[in-house]
Amino acid sequence: MLERMEDMCDPETIVAEFEALSKDAGRVQRETLKKILEENGETEYLQRWGLNGRTDPDSFKSFVPLATHTDLEPYIHRIADGDNSSVLTGKPITTISLSSGTTQGKPKFVPFNDELVEDTMKIYKTSFAFRNREYPIGNGKALQFIYGSKQFKTKGGLAAGTATTNIYLNAEFKKTMRAMQTPCCSPDEVIFGPEFHQSLYCHLLCGLIFRDQVQVVSSTFAHSIVHAFRTFEQLWEQLVNDIREGVLSSRITVPSIRTAMSKLLKPDPELANIIYNKCLGLSNWYGVIQELFPNTKYIYGIMTGSMEPYLTKLRHYAGGLPLLSADYGSSEGWIGANVNPKLPPELVTFAVLPDIGYFEFIPLKEDVHGLEHERQPIGLTEVKVGEEYEIIVTNFAGLYRYRLGDVVKVKGFHNSTPELQFICRRNLLLTINIDKNTEKDLQIAVEAAAKLLSEEKQEVVDFTSHVDSSTEPGHYVIFWEISGELNDEILKECCDCLDKSFVDAGYVGSRKVKTIGPLELRIVRRGTFHKILDHFVGLGAAVSQFKTPRCVGHNNNNVLQILSSNVVKSYFSTAF
Ligand code: AMP
Repeated sequence: MLERMEDMCDPETIVAEFEALSKDAGRVQRETLKKILEENGETEYLQRWGLNGRTDPDSFKSFVPLATHTDLEPYIHRIADGDNSSVLTGKPITTISLSSGTTQGKPKFVPFNDELVEDTMKIYKTSFAFRNREYPIGNGKALQFIYGSKQFKTKGGLAAGTATTNIYLNAEFKKTMRAMQTPCCSPDEVIFGPEFHQSLYCHLLCGLIFRDQVQVVSSTFAHSIVHAFRTFEQLWEQLVNDIREGVLSSRITVPSIRTAMSKLLKPDPELANIIYNKCLGLSNWYGVIQELFPNTKYIYGIMTGSMEPYLTKLRHYAGGLPLLSADYGSSEGWIGANVNPKLPPELVTFAVLPDIGYFEFIPLKEDVHGLEHERQPIGLTEVKVGEEYEIIVTNFAGLYRYRLGDVVKVKGFHNSTPELQFICRRNLLLTINIDKNTEKDLQIAVEAAAKLLSEEKQEVVDFTSHVDSSTEPGHYVIFWEISGELNDEILKECCDCLDKSFVDAGYVGSRKVKTIGPLELRIVRRGTFHKILDHFVGLGAAVSQFKTPRCVGHNNNNVLQILSSNVVKSYFSTAF
């Protein structure tokens, strides 16, 4: 059995399989759709659209409409409430995933099944095989900042948790990961601990105990690694002390974690001294990861999209270590693997695996007046290099022509399957009248203004935005948490720079004619964004899947409240 498992995980076999699939992406897509529709043709959802056993792409597209999460919600809720007839899938759904929902303000329910576990393994194996060619890792351990969320039962008795938790708990998944990758330094009690501050502390402690064996430092989203080392800056002396004495800090109160950690922690003054001296020798924590874990080959996690703003800090902590950006997927299902691990995170693309779902793409193009025209979706192999698309997913987990809400750009092809760059979520973040700004536009503006701050050796720790329509006219509000002291002159400049950096014609025009008021930069107290994270974790979100909401509206009143009550200073733009 073990042999077979190792065979299945042999990097060269996996690469060869992927090459074969990607060379024939068009045919594989048609077959995948056929298989999905054969397995699920009898479901209430597909019956409703009268497909009547047809399994070809043209019939599928003409009978089954595009759908959003809102369209599927009543079906998913019936499943969660215990309806075990074939609602969305032929085989009943027994588990529900909670997507991070940081954009909507509350987690969404999505179906989870064994097919999603299989897809996860396929994606992980594929990118691991390509990664391992360039950066082979030997025997050792991975320092993984991963956190299971609480699982609970839905009204109908189904297990519900975040997708990452559902995956980590799956026995088959654990077996494959063990055969393929380096095991995690931390015991399960730490990963699945009920209190994430305690889990984080112990992840760091386990990493330090096994510091010479650590080969990879990783997390699902890069934010968790940055968060971990920001915490390390605060707590390192306590951690060193625990190692010196061999006694776990009293801040860890969960009995199962204390028991598990007591098996690993022995008094080790020599190790404590090494770590202590390394920390003292660092300048502003530059290269802390490389110094503490000298055999690390690379840092791994999703670094694209809403994670890009953390790259500067991550590079600072990483020193010279390569940053390798992980794959593209969502709670709803996987899309593509990073098969070019040497690319820096800013340029990373994802090669679509043509056998894990049927993918369609809505071309997004603006006409000369800046108006977006929605066009008919096209197939995976019909997309064009350089064009942007909204991605539509049909998969084995009950999603049919599902609008994921993401915008991607085709950067090239791997054989005949496209390599996609993640651009942003499609929904507009900031809009008051005719202005249109997405998460990406906000990120670009913040990057431009943050440059002014970095000249002063300060940084934007995190940021979000809000449309304030309580004023007449309404205006954009940007919240910043910054490191260091307030410098009114610089922050005033930053505020003007933010205002000027939203370059869409609607915004600029509205600012000029004063139908949008001056942009406001509000500075919040240090630690405010940690409070927001804690708030989401309290709602059942997993730290592993956390993404800072980049716009906070009144559907997210608690977060707005946290932000507002922590404002220390605000500035209005004089740019127009
Ligand atoms: P969740 O709701 O927690 O399942 O998050 C899924 C969303 O995270 C996707 O729809 C994307 O918007 C984003 N995402 C996932 N993977 C990546 C990636 N590699 N790069 C950028 N964004 C990603």
